Amino acid sequence: MLTIDILTIFPGMFSPILNASILKRAQDNKKVCIRIHDLRDYTLDKHRKVDDRPFGGGPGMVLMPEPIFKAVKKIKGRRKVRVLMTCPGGITFHQRMAKRWAQEKNILIICGHYEGVDERVRQKLVDTSVSIGDYVLTGGELPAMILVDAIVRLVPGVLGKEESLYDESFEQGRLEYPHYTRPADFQGLKVPRILLSGHHRQIQQWRARQAETRTRRQRPDLL
Ligand code: SAH
Repeated sequence: MLTIDILTIFPGMFSPILNASILKRAQDNKKVCIRIHDLRDYTLDKHRKVDDRPFGGGPGMVLMPEPIFKAVKKIKGRRKVRVLMTCPGGITFHQRMAKRWAQEKNILIICGHYEGVDERVRQKLVDTSVSIGDYVLTGGELPAMILVDAIVRLVPGVLGKEESLYDESFEQGRLEYPHYTRPADFQGLKVPRILLSGHHRQIQQWRARQAETRTRRQRPDLL
């Protein structure tokens, strides 16, 4: 089973996401174990201080190294763990990475906050710094949830046959074909006739063409 530990100063942000839909089912079915750790539990002073002003001046607060080092050591124990840190300057997250990490046994995600994290954390503790895109968020909690969601659904057995991965966007280096459901005619907008024909081969060919055209138009960089 894959174990994912998340280190955060806002542990309360995770439960609505982790306790719904496929992520909940994956945990219930023991495909993944997700544990949220409050960084403040690893602080050394009575105010449970996790951050301090940056050396050299400037705005904002920086997460201090001590509590993070302490937490990571305790959480890892003797296990071999892939340590990820959310960071706008990290490598941009991609389906390929989700696929690779879905094969791991243990993952730990460190969530930054405020102005960021003391650089010595990256130097000593982090295997990969991951960005979810070129924009700045207030904290690493949403990025961590995105990583978890994308990774967990690729863990073998998490999705049923019904939710097959094969045709999905980015799997074959292209986007997925368009979907339609009932009704066949919605306010005059008709479902492509081929999809109602029952000719499986022709439907497959149509879908492949659609995927190709769509990718060419919307994401030529994938081809
Ligand atoms: N001062 C930093 C931004 C800090 S944002 C800079 O300019 O690079 C605070 C925290 O939010 C970061 O430490 C990181 O954990 C998280 N974060 C913000 N944007 C992110 C993104 N695009 N991808 C991943 N994590 C992000």
